[in-house]
Amino acid sequence: MPEDYAEEYRKAIHNARNKVLNPRSGVPKEAYKVLMSLYARMISDINKDIGREAITAERANDLKRLITRRFNDLGDQLGMLFSRGKKKITEGAAEAHAIAVERTTTAAGVSSFSVSFNDIPDRALETMMLRRGLNAKNYQSVIKRGLQRAATDIDDYLASAVGRGVSADRAAKELAGILSRNNDTVLGLVEDGRLMKSNINKALRTGEIDVMDYRDASQILYDSRRIVVTEINTAHREADLLAQDRSPIVKASKWQVSGRHYGLPSSPCVCTVYHETDQFGLGPGVFPTRNFPSTPHPHCGCYPEAVIIEDPAQWGTGGEPLQEPNDFTEDQLQTMFSDKTDYHMKRQIDTANKYLNLAYQFADKRFAKG
Ligand SMILES: [Zn+2]
Repeated sequence: MPEDYAEEYRKAIHNARNKVLNPRSGVPKEAYKVLMSLYARMISDINKDIGREAITAERANDLKRLITRRFNDLGDQLGMLFSRGKKKITEGAAEAHAIAVERTTTAAGVSSFSVSFNDIPDRALETMMLRRGLNAKNYQSVIKRGLQRAATDIDDYLASAVGRGVSADRAAKELAGILSRNNDTVLGLVEDGRLMKSNINKALRTGEIDVMDYRDASQILYDSRRIVVTEINTAHREADLLAQDRSPIVKASKWQVSGRHYGLPSSPCVCTVYHETDQFGLGPGVFPTRNFPSTPHPHCGCYPEAVIIEDPAQWGTGGEPLQEPNDFTEDQLQTMFSDKTDYHMKRQIDTANKYLNLAYQFADKRFAKG
C-alpha cells in the first residue's frame, strides 16, 4: 500500500511554520510586542528626564542631549531585537525540516539520513545579506537615518517649548503625544499617571500641537514595525529554502500564494504567474529549489512549499538541479491576463522575469562550488 509521505512531510512543516509564524503567538508578533514595550519605555524614560522643572533654553540643551541618547539606546535595542527575531525564526524553519525528515523516514521505515540543518540559520542570514546587494546593515541604516530625522523634530519641538514657556508637565505630555503619534498600544504601555492618553490629548489640544507636524519624531516606530515584519518573514523564507535544498526528501519547491491572493484586485499578478505556470517542466508553480525567486513585491504573502520525492528508494539522491530559466512570454500568459490591461500584463511579466533571472544568477554564483 503506497503511503502519502508528501502529506507526512508537509504536515510536519506546516505545524512548525504555524508555531513560529502564528499571527497571535509567533516570532513576528512577539517581536512586535517587544518593540512596542521598548518604545514605551523610551517615552517613560524621557518623561523622567524632563522631570518637574520648566523647559528653559538652558534645560533644552541638556534635554536634547538626554533625548538623543534615549533614541540611540532604542536603536541599539532594536538592532538586538531584530537579530534575535531573525535567529529564532531561522532556527524554527531549519528545525521544521529536521522534524519532517525524521517523521517521514520513520513512517517509511527507512533508516534515517545523517543530515544536519544546524548551519541553516547562519547561512540564511548570510544569504539575506548577499541577496540584498551586500548591504548587511540595511535595517540599521534605516533606523540610523530615522534617528537623525527624529533629532531634528525633537530640536524643533524643544525650541517651540522654550518659546511658549511651557511647564515640564505640559512638555512631557506633548512630547509623549508626538513620539507615539498617539498610538494606543504604545501609550497603553507607558507607566506614568501623567502620561495617560486623555491627559496627553488634552495637552496637545490646548497647546495647539499637531503631532503630524513632528512626524519624523515618531517615524522610527512605524519604520521599525514594518522592518521587523519584513525581515523576519524574509529570514524564514531563506532558511526554509536552504533547508528544502538540503533535505534528502525534497525534490523541488512550489510557489504557493496566500489564501486571499485570488480575491485581491491586483490578481492576476506576478505571483499568479509563478504559481500557475509550469516553467521548468516540473508541474505548475514548481521550481527547482535554487531557482525559487525572492518575493517580487512588498507585502507578498507567498511561500515555498516543499515538493517531495515520492519514492523512498530515491530519497537522498538529490533534488532538481538549478536550471537556466526561460523567460515568461506574453504569448504564454495571454489567457491568464485576458481581463487586465496590456500595461498591467507587461509589467507583471517583466517583474516575473526579473526575479526569475535574479534568482538564477544568484544561485549560479552562490552554489558554484556545489
Ligand atoms: Zn506573492
